[in-house]
Amino acid sequence: MIIDSHVHAGEYYRHFTARFAEDMMATTGRPPQALTAPEATLLAEMDAAGVDRAFLLAFDVRRVEGFSVPNDFVADLCARNPDRFTGFASVDAGSDGAAAELRRAATDLGLRGLKTAPAYLRMSPADRAWYDVYDVAQEHRMPVLVHTGYTPSKRADPRYLSPALLRPVARDFPGLPIILAHLGTPWTTVSIDMLADHPNLYADLSIFGWYQPPATVAAALEYARRRGVLDRLLWGTDYPFCTMIDFVARMDLLADDASLWPDGVPLTPDERTSLMGGAAARLLERQPVHPRGGAA
Ligand SMILES: [Zn+2]
Repeated sequence: MIIDSHVHAGEYYRHFTARFAEDMMATTGRPPQALTAPEATLLAEMDAAGVDRAFLLAFDVRRVEGFSVPNDFVADLCARNPDRFTGFASVDAGSDGAAAELRRAATDLGLRGLKTAPAYLRMSPADRAWYDVYDVAQEHRMPVLVHTGYTPSKRADPRYLSPALLRPVARDFPGLPIILAHLGTPWTTVSIDMLADHPNLYADLSIFGWYQPPATVAAALEYARRRGVLDRLLWGTDYPFCTMIDFVARMDLLADDASLWPDGVPLTPDERTSLMGGAAARLLERQPVHPRGGAA
């Protein structure tokens, strides 16, 4: 089973502002209008790439960027496609009612994880304002996917990009799985070292695994294997910033081509299964079978 653990819901005209889309798509060489994932397009992309399930992300950056991809919108997509999407809520701890909104997303909307964008919101992920939100996520067994690493957003605060900021959070919330998005690029070694220190930390390969040369990706995976944390790495694309079809093909190449690997040992079948969906599935298995109240 292939799970894409990092997929953005939202549509260009309906949600994202032109300004945000221009910033974000500039580095991809595609037009701003390509920052869009209408339901039918997204499902067709998943089918073509052989992706069984996607972690589908809401995105709340209203306070800074003036838009959001709302939790209710993501919940509706999940309700229509429960066998394809697992919904992640998004809240802004810098706005009133963030913890209450996450509770509503878990209990009324049936969302199963949390996506945060602290640098975009100009706050540290370790800011105490997040702690009420993390409490709710931990209580509802929702993994938290945190943006870490580089972003082309011009309004993000570069002080809050480093994955190392999450060390105190990992320590203070040992029961909360935290996923470092983009393997914290360019701090990939820091991220892998953090996973080795904190058993509740995970990381996804989105953007990093596509934009870096295959040998660089293989070297990072090899280092993760050596540190004993390869089973907590999750494949994900960051669609629509990356296509799923090309990225799956690249993972096939990486898994098979021993010459790309520093030690000449490509992914074993078990490692490949874990990376492409097994680890993500294990994260969901620790969820309650029936979300409390609301839609499944
Ligand atoms: Zn993303």
